Amino acid sequence: MPPFNQPLGGNDMPRFGGPATMMRLPSQPTADGLNVAFVGVPMDHGTSNRPGTRLGPRAIRDESRMLRPYNMATGAAPFDHLQVADVGDVPINTFDLKKTIPIIEAFHAGVLNAGAIPLTLGGDHTLTWPILRAMKARHGPVALIHVDAHADINDTMFGEKVAHGCPFRRAWEEGCLINDKVFQIGLRGTGYGPDDFDWGRARGWTVVQAEDCWHRSLKPLMESVRAAIGDSPCYLSYDIDSLDPAFAPGTGTVEPGGLTIWQGLEIVRGCAGLNLVGGDLVEVSPPYDPSGNTALIGANLLYEMLCALPGVPQRARG
Ligand code: MN
Ligand code: MN
Repeated sequence: MPPFNQPLGGNDMPRFGGPATMMRLPSQPTADGLNVAFVGVPMDHGTSNRPGTRLGPRAIRDESRMLRPYNMATGAAPFDHLQVADVGDVPINTFDLKKTIPIIEAFHAGVLNAGAIPLTLGGDHTLTWPILRAMKARHGPVALIHVDAHADINDTMFGEKVAHGCPFRRAWEEGCLINDKVFQIGLRGTGYGPDDFDWGRARGWTVVQAEDCWHRSLKPLMESVRAAIGDSPCYLSYDIDSLDPAFAPGTGTVEPGGLTIWQGLEIVRGCAGLNLVGGDLVEVSPPYDPSGNTALIGANLLYEMLCALPGVPQRARG
């Protein structure tokens, strides 16, 4: 028997059978004994446009059923090195967004206090703010790699401070971030003015707009990101709408001209070697994802995050 939990294999139970846990891993009620905990946050009451991300965690889990344990590209075998399980969903208050914030924070604090790294299935992007609060309590301010079509630094939306377009403004206000180690990648589309993207730059953040990513490999970018972040604790927040809607249409706030899947993979794989302390994959909206492909890509990116965590050896490549 292997020492760690293994995903249920495709020869033990048909891929489409059994409970839909992340990667068909065992589920357990807490993160006790784990190195990594997959966490769902089934919420969409922070969205400003098309809803549906409350159904994201279930869809991502369902579409994770084809994921096999070994990473053919990087040589990572995370289940040989880490104890991983699905700890289920955060019991958010679906009638009250503001009351949901401390619930998400407390749940992630519990995961961190158990010594586990949370990898979170969204849910709308509001959820990253309370996670970053929990991160600060555990690790102090963190470096941030934020992949998104949007900056999500609005002060308010419709007069409200809590919304999916505000999480990084709130996290900045509360000192959760190391400002010269914040990278926003993939931003694009229409705005209200240049300050939509320059606000972060004025605080020392690096903003890499989507147009600066077009037609190129992002490996050199990630080399520079790793050099800048060094061994600081680093959080990875991946909004699926960073990808072009040709690849990932199943999301609420679509912007054309986005990243390719292979660029997304380069970003996440390029996080190997960093001191990753957590990550999330947000904004998958199953009602706009009839093929399931957006959730499937999200599941794969979460697996790639797992493969990039500290303690998982990567195959040296020439
Ligand atoms: Mn976002
Ligand atoms: Mn977005």
